[in-house]
Order: sequence, then C-alpha cells, then structure tokens
Amino acid sequence: MKMSKLFVQTLREYPSDAEVVSHKMLARAGYIRKLTSGVYNFLPLMWRVLKKIETIVREEMDAAGAQELLMPFVQPKELWEESGRWEAYGKELMRLKDRHDRIMCLGPTHEEVITAIARDGLKSYKQLPVNLYQIQSKFRDEVRPRYGLLRGREFIMKDAYSFDVDEAGLDKEYENMARAYKRIFDRCGLDTKMVQSDSGAIGGSVSHEFMVITDTDAGENDVFYCNECDYSANSNHAVSKLPDTVVDGKDYFSKTEIIDTPNTHSIEKLSEFLKIPPTLILKSLVYIVDKKTVMALIRADKTVEETKLMNAIGGIEIRIASSAEIAELMAEKGFDAVPGFIGPKGMSDIPIIVDETVRDMKNFVVGINITDKHQVGANLKDLGLEEIKYTDIRLVEAGDYCPNCGKPLFVTKGIEVGNIFKLGTKYSNPMNAVYTDVNGKTHPYVMGCYGIGISRTAAAAVEAHHDENGIKWPVSIAPYHVVVIPVSTNDELQMTTSVKIYEQLLNAGVEAVLDDRDERAGVKFKDADLIGFPYRITVGKTISEGLVEYKVRETGELTKVTSEKAVSDIIEIIKNIK
Ligand code: ATP
Ligand code: MG
Repeated sequence: MKMSKLFVQTLREYPSDAEVVSHKMLARAGYIRKLTSGVYNFLPLMWRVLKKIETIVREEMDAAGAQELLMPFVQPKELWEESGRWEAYGKELMRLKDRHDRIMCLGPTHEEVITAIARDGLKSYKQLPVNLYQIQSKFRDEVRPRYGLLRGREFIMKDAYSFDVDEAGLDKEYENMARAYKRIFDRCGLDTKMVQSDSGAIGGSVSHEFMVITDTDAGENDVFYCNECDYSANSNHAVSKLPDTVVDGKDYFSKTEIIDTPNTHSIEKLSEFLKIPPTLILKSLVYIVDKKTVMALIRADKTVEETKLMNAIGGIEIRIASSAEIAELMAEKGFDAVPGFIGPKGMSDIPIIVDETVRDMKNFVVGINITDKHQVGANLKDLGLEEIKYTDIRLVEAGDYCPNCGKPLFVTKGIEVGNIFKLGTKYSNPMNAVYTDVNGKTHPYVMGCYGIGISRTAAAAVEAHHDENGIKWPVSIAPYHVVVIPVSTNDELQMTTSVKIYEQLLNAGVEAVLDDRDERAGVKFKDADLIGFPYRITVGKTISEGLVEYKVRETGELTKVTSEKAVSDIIEIIKNIK
C-alpha cells in the first residue's frame, strides 16, 4: 500500500470527548470515527486490525473444536419472553417495532437464538457435545458509553455457546475454552489474568473474566489477587477474610440509650463526635433495586459492593436512593429523619440485607430515624429485625486476607476482554430445549457461553502498548507490519531503493506501506509512530553506502544495516508470526 493512497486522515488534536489513551490515539491516528454516541466507523486501518484479531479467534476456536455460524442481529420479542429475559434484561436491550407493529430487539447477546437453534437440531445425546460460535456486531444501549471502543453501544463480539449432556461435560468444555482464550490473548500480544467474576444478566453460577491488567483509567474493573496462591476475582465477586477487630462498645457505652448527636450527617462526623472508631457504628443505606426500596446494613468502616447486594435481592439494576427518595420513605413510615440518621427501626416491611460484618457487633451505635439522634450501646436484638440472615455484601479492600490461603490481597485495575460462563440449564430449561438420552428420557442441555470483545480487545491492546508518540501494535495484530520511508522523495536513489525494498517485502508476503508522500521526513516519522507500524525502514543519505535505518517501534531501537539485511530480518520475523 502506498501511503499517498491509504485512506487515513490523522488529526492534529485528540477528540474533545476522548478520555483514555486508546480512544485518543485510535481517533487521532485515523482508525475510527464516531458516528453517534457509542457508535463508531471502523476505517480501513482499524478494520485490518479487527480482521486480524478475528482470524486469531477463528483459528483458536476452530482448533478447540467449535463451529462457526452466523445468527441474525434482529431478534423477536417472543423468543426473549420464553427465557424470561424480555423483562429482566433492562434498558441495555434496544427494543424496536417493525412496520407490522411486531416488537423486536437488537441482539446484545444470543443465548435465546442459539438455544432455539439447538432445540430444533440437537435431539439426541449422540449429537452432543457441540460448541457453536459467531463473530458479529452487538448492540447494547449502555448507560454510559465511553472510552471509545472499550465501552461502545455497537461493538463486535465473538460469542460461543456449548451444549453438553451433563455438568461433567460442561466442566470439560469450560476448561477447553479457558485454554483457547489464553492462547487467543497471548497471540494478540496481550497478557491476561483469568479472574472469578459475577455472572450478571447472562446468568449461571460460575464465570471467569479475562482481564488485561492496566494502571490507567481505562481499567473499569478492580481485580483483587493473592500473590501466594492463584486466587483472583473481580471486586463484584471477590470475598476475603477480615482481620479480627474488637467490635464491642462496652467501654464507651454502659447502657442502651438514645442520645443527641447534632449535625452528625456522616460516619466521620459521628465517630468524631462520639470519639469512637467507625467499627462501632452500624451503617444503614437505602438502595433502589429495580423499582424496590431496600436497606443494607454494614459495619461503618466497610463499603457495600452493589453487585453483591443486587444479587442478594435478585435484581438486575441497582442504585443508591436519592435524598428525595429517602425523604419519601421516611414520610411513608411516619419518621422525620434526613440521611445520616436512618436506621432499620420500623423498616421490617422492606427487604433488609445484613452484611456478615454486623454479626459480631455489640453495644454499637445506630440511626433510629430521628434527625440529630442516635441510639448508643445498641445490640442486634434491639433493632426489631426478625430472624437475621447474614449475607456477604462487602467490598473487599486491599490488605484484607485471601479467602483461600489467608495472605494479604492486592488490588489492580483490569479491562475485561473476555468472559466465560457456566450457564447450566438456565436457558434450556425454560425454553424446553432437550435431548433424549440412551434410555429415551429427555433432559435439558447443560450449556456454557463464552464471549470475547473483538473491538474492545483492539482498544485494550492500545492501552497496553503505546508511548507518548502513538501506538505500538503487537506485530500479530498490526494493520501493516512495516513502513518504508524515503527521506526525500526527490532523491532518485532513495526513491528507487525504497520502491525496491517495498516490492521485495510485498513479494515475500510482508504487509508493507511505502510512504511516498512529498512531506518532510519529520512528518512521516511522526505519522509512522502515531499509526504504530511495528517496524520502520528509513532510506536516507547513507543509502549511497548501501545502508538504511531500521527501527523497532516496541523498543525504539535504531540500527544502521544494509538494505538486504533489513529486508531479510523482517521477512524472517513475519514468517514466524504466521
Ligand atoms: P462489562 O461488564 O464490561 O459490561 P459484560 O459482562 O456485559 O461486560 P459480556 O456480556 O460477557 O460482557 O460480553 C462479552 C464480551 O464483550 C466482554 O468480555 C467484553 O469484552 C465485550 N463487551 C461487552 N460490553 C461491551 C461494550 N459495551 N463495548 C465493547 N465491548 C463490550
Ligand atoms: Mg455489560
């Protein structure tokens, strides 16, 4: 490809809405253009990267025994009603109507469609196991599309679905997919960590995410991990052991009483006012799960993990209640209290979820739904709660102890590029998707599902491989392998040698670009760094001695070599990639 013909417009500036490196660089280097919120054009350079990732994914999925198909992007409501997800999926599901008023949705994922396909085609145990996958655009009306390709509304995903006769079969396929995922991300030049995670809207019991670890804002997930054993988990799923803490307030409070605590709207103010550690305060928080009001109780030095709380209720959307909603709740129950003084008293008709940390609290401080007052020296029996069931809804913190081996946990940020789930019979059961066993009895298939964000993987690769000048693509997924730059296009020797090198590379199957533009060398170097070609061959004055400059983008290493050596080195490298 000649640079003068390549469809790419690099920008002088980063787009104003770009917050993270991958979004900034992919936009500025001419890979993507935004069409509307969370929806991007993949321009020719981007499309080459995406196709390379897709090829790696296809090769590894095929090698792992899966078969590719392609399902429709538009799906009918009726199918989603069969699985119960038409209601349950929430607002991310983009719903629409056709000209006959039939209600449809844009596929955010394809469990329903694939289960319907399997139901029609897989009737006997003899046909199982099967793993089917596709690579396709998905649409999710994300609450906050951001970070360019990392969290789009329309994005490309590989989604695979496995069908087995029993759990043992599923376990085996799950391991098989985990191994394939490791190979896929390794080949894409990405170091990933496989971490335990919450199963979310897809459902099922066991799931793992593949995380690209990063220290940038682009890492939307906190990952807790142990250095002593292999425990690692997304914060939405992580559990830990706590250090033993004394949680008996007997030294502070000799009896149970209600006292004035003016203006103690926060835990800090309250513990300062009473001169007690926050471990002696029971924190009461009001949340809205789906449309229901719920209360969470936790020891005040700890934080509620919202996904864990939501799962304890069995909801699909959670948010903290606004002051207005709390005021409404108080009015409804006949109380007069502002946030900071809320408590479980008189709330027994709303779900109250009590964290494990509350179990051992004694003689503590709690809000009693009266502004500027708290009850001190209180105990659980005083709270009027019927039969308390303790649930772990606590956010793990760095320094908590590993649930497996008891050593301290560390935290880091991660970008989720892939996700594998054991679905079990979550879809096959309600959709009546069954096979017949050797005795003629029917059973629902035992299913798994396995996703990889193709476009997110490309962006994650930029997050992991860049410097201040631009992208440093891993060679396996770079749009082109090498750029050949004549320093002066008017110099005949420089130009004829550049063309010769370029043609030799092309003939050997190397994906080369010849920067034949009549631009200053500095401009061409800048563009080459920004676009991120893994290798650069510069043909300048020293070509009169037969020498060119050879640059490795990843390391910045620059060497003077003969043009023959530059060509043969690159051919060798690329041969080993393929
Ligand atoms: P997240 O928690 O980041 O929203 P998810 O759990 O909803 O992800 P899955 O339903 O498991 O994601 O989808 C499989 C893969 O698709 C993810 O691992 C991710 O790589 C990709 N993906 C999901 N949502 C998006 C999005 N909005 N934009 C780009 N890629 C996405
Ligand atoms: Mg999501």
